[in-house]
Amino acid sequence: MSTIKRKQEQPTTKTKKTKKQQVEKLPPKLERLQCVFSGLNTFCAFCDARLLTVLTWSRIQSAVPNVTMDDLAAINVILPDFIAFTLDESDNNATTEWIIQFGKLISKRVARQKQSEALQNKGDAWEYPTKKLDMKPDQIKKTVDTRNHRFQQGLNKFILACRKKGLDPETHLVNELKQYLPQPPENAHQQQVDPGQQPEDENLSQERSMHEMIHQMQVQKFYLGQLVNGACHRTFPEKMARFGELDPPIAKEISQALERKGITQLYTHQTEAIRELRNKNQHVIVATSTASGKSLIYQIPVLEKLLEDKSSRAMYIFPTKALAQDQMRALQEFIQSCPKLSNIKIATFDGDTPSDQRMHIRSTANVIFTNPDMLHHSILPNAKQWQWFLLSLKFVVVDELHIYNGLFGTNVAFIMRRLRRLCHHFGNDLIQFISCSATIRHPDQHMKLVFGVDNVKLIDEDGAPSGKKEFVVWNPPLLKPSDPHSDRRGAVAEGADILEYLLSHNIRTIAFCKVRKTCEMLMKHLRESLEKQNKLDMLKKVMSYRGGYMPHERRKIERQMFSGELLGVIATNALELGVDIGSLDAVLMVGMPWSASAMWQQSGRAGRRNADSLSMVITDQNPMDQYYAHHPTELFEKPLDEIHFEIEENVLVLENHLQCAAEELPIDTEKDQVYFGPRIKEICEQYFVSIGNQQYRPHPRFRPYPAQFVNIRNITEEIYTVIDVTSNRNIVLEEIEASRAAFEIYEGAIFIHQGKPYLVEELNVEKRYAKVHLTRVNWTTRQRDYTNVNVLTTSMAKPIGSPKNRRNTVGYGKVQIETVVFGYYKLDKSSRIIDSLEVYMDPVVRESTGIWADVNSTALAKLEDLGIDKMASIHAAAHVLISLLPSFTSSTTVDVRTECKSPHATRSRPPRIALYETQPNGIVRQAYQFFRDLVIMSVDQIQHCECEDGCPSCVHLASCSEHNILCSKPGALIILRSLLEMDIQEIGKNDDVISDKNDSSSKAVT
Ligand SMILES: [Zn+2]
Ligand SMILES: [Zn+2]
Repeated sequence: MSTIKRKQEQPTTKTKKTKKQQVEKLPPKLERLQCVFSGLNTFCAFCDARLLTVLTWSRIQSAVPNVTMDDLAAINVILPDFIAFTLDESDNNATTEWIIQFGKLISKRVARQKQSEALQNKGDAWEYPTKKLDMKPDQIKKTVDTRNHRFQQGLNKFILACRKKGLDPETHLVNELKQYLPQPPENAHQQQVDPGQQPEDENLSQERSMHEMIHQMQVQKFYLGQLVNGACHRTFPEKMARFGELDPPIAKEISQALERKGITQLYTHQTEAIRELRNKNQHVIVATSTASGKSLIYQIPVLEKLLEDKSSRAMYIFPTKALAQDQMRALQEFIQSCPKLSNIKIATFDGDTPSDQRMHIRSTANVIFTNPDMLHHSILPNAKQWQWFLLSLKFVVVDELHIYNGLFGTNVAFIMRRLRRLCHHFGNDLIQFISCSATIRHPDQHMKLVFGVDNVKLIDEDGAPSGKKEFVVWNPPLLKPSDPHSDRRGAVAEGADILEYLLSHNIRTIAFCKVRKTCEMLMKHLRESLEKQNKLDMLKKVMSYRGGYMPHERRKIERQMFSGELLGVIATNALELGVDIGSLDAVLMVGMPWSASAMWQQSGRAGRRNADSLSMVITDQNPMDQYYAHHPTELFEKPLDEIHFEIEENVLVLENHLQCAAEELPIDTEKDQVYFGPRIKEICEQYFVSIGNQQYRPHPRFRPYPAQFVNIRNITEEIYTVIDVTSNRNIVLEEIEASRAAFEIYEGAIFIHQGKPYLVEELNVEKRYAKVHLTRVNWTTRQRDYTNVNVLTTSMAKPIGSPKNRRNTVGYGKVQIETVVFGYYKLDKSSRIIDSLEVYMDPVVRESTGIWADVNSTALAKLEDLGIDKMASIHAAAHVLISLLPSFTSSTTVDVRTECKSPHATRSRPPRIALYETQPNGIVRQAYQFFRDLVIMSVDQIQHCECEDGCPSCVHLASCSEHNILCSKPGALIILRSLLEMDIQEIGKNDDVISDKNDSSSKAVT
């Protein structure tokens, strides 16, 4: 060590002399800086000469006395970019070190390589190079002198500039250097966002009102009128806590355990729910805000019951394994702090439970945590073994009830009926159902549907406090402000900027994206921006989180978010579920969420008890988003979605579950109508085996295990594995469903994971894996694909209009859905196409059931006449039909799809409206039945819609895969009216709307 000092002192004193001749007097701080520079200069030059080693911050500190990070930053003020900082990003860096490159920039790759070499040598005592130098000593001296001279000049220039502006050089240097500091973890929040703004104090920023924040954003450089008008910003007032009392109070043991958790009082909704549950005939649903302590509502009654009767049983049902495990841990903790309950046994019972433990759990566990799938596949089919459990079952808790909708909801509803039927058979009619739900319309109706019970009490008066909520609809600016028809900036790029702004103000934020790809693109934008500014520490505090990630990775991110290690998370709505990630300050929704309920659920993620929160929807370019950007009031006042599905009317699903139920216990067509409705008689007569006395066994083809033929979730697909082969590490990055594989991991694609680009090297369709490697490219890829719906067989057809017109019919039958990825674009940062490449992949082909109607020649001629694109008209007509389907069938608008038309597609398609169902669930069959009524309603809807070019109330569909770009409202009207054989000749006469539309639709077709 002493050698180093001696060697560096020499040149230091020498340069000091030359400098003193040029400047009379250097202010003390600058003089000190010059000494530091000089010392660093010599040391670094020798290290560079050795060419071997990387300079880490700790090495520099050990070699140059009293050097600080501020000094390095100050040097960069004098000589911009003279010192480069790189941080190791590899996952295994327990100790993070800055790599310092002095005097010349090195590429990150070299830095990383050097870094890993350096880390491998870590254990060795570091000595001054004894190895022969690669540079001659006078060469080194020359480098050292040149750099000292440059620094000297830099100092002089700095002082001169300060004097001109009347600034004190020392103070100015101290002020300036802050922005040049690399960000160490402990003072990341001190980083300035943009110069000219005061750095934030942590406490200050937490107390900063979001209202003020929104005003602040409007004076930033990036503000270009994104808030279209005053209606885009709404303030929802804060709410105070309201506490309730219970008489009799909750058991002492439990209240003591609660006190240990810091809970001394219960909110009104909690006490009200518990009061209702003490009445043994009452079922309860709680629909309150995200952080309102909903789990206590079921924990307290369940534990009270267990204190009273140790033999009682409870079952908790969660839609996912992760949630079940989360809640089990929470209950375990609770029980442990309650000595009287120490002998209570709780267990998870899911697909991962080893078979040798299952018997033990069945006979001993008081509370099991499971999911609907286990109930369907394992518990109910083995009911005899579960007899004791089912007989003693007192509470069934089903959390996240809003998840159970559509086909999954219908399936779960039948599973609950099967459960109730078996319990009744074993002599247990006293089960109470407890549910929690996000805010949806009529949660109590929903609960009645799912469980098939009547006495449901809805608790939705939220007693939990909440801070003020600022809600903003933010419309990204036009790319050419002077041209109102120019494109807008993408929601992802805009979202990345806003997210960065919020994070840099230390605001805990979650950004929700609608699809996985957007999620990764947002992460990528943010990553690139932060890397460019060297804000690597902030980068470490943001992660993306979405479906497809390996479970352990997701758990890790959840933990880090909860503990506050992460400041931001970019997620798909996989996080809409109740995973607790702690309290957040802000929610960004990148692109309008699918539904009003989803919007409020996501928005509900933000908000601490006493602090205000921000929710922001960043609208996309598509018509639906733009509609709400300009009509924000409608968005705020849009009614919540009604979760609507039918149970007994869904004959296909009903029959499936009857087969399962009949195996569990023969169906009695009289008695079992209470569970399955009056139709079971005809269904059993037709498809089941009679055993006399109105009793039926399953059809032989389902036996001995009918549940295996009944899929209760939509996902039954094969999985592709994405393997990271960078530097031969061969680790599984994530898993992808086969239907997405075609779009995401074609060879040549840039696959993004945690915002980092990976190039797909190889896609093995047979073995279902893709090999990818980390790459540094400044482009991304977008697949070019289309979906064709082809009619395979016609099972039925009937006229739509007059019974005699055989040319105007609706058909029903089997269809083939063919998705083809035929190539991809390379896109630059601003999503401009820089290259177009082809891929040769087999189309992904599936079969389903569909309905279709050919567009007749009268309509085609009229469209031609008016110059309206026929594909745009068919597309729009199909959208209206789909959006109105839920009025006739038990569907949601994503259960049924159409061939969405893209302006880029050049293939010719028959002029036909075709709808198909994503799962064979009987919806299109119902649609076939009511087709004429559906068309009448659609015509009415379009005619009464006051919009000009189409809107979400008429021809735009939120789930459109082509963003509703090629859609013609008048065209749809022409087609649908002609299906009804109504007059279409008047359409388009004296109608400006149509001639306008004519322009834009013909422009869109290329
Ligand atoms: Zn409209
Ligand atoms: Zn569409």
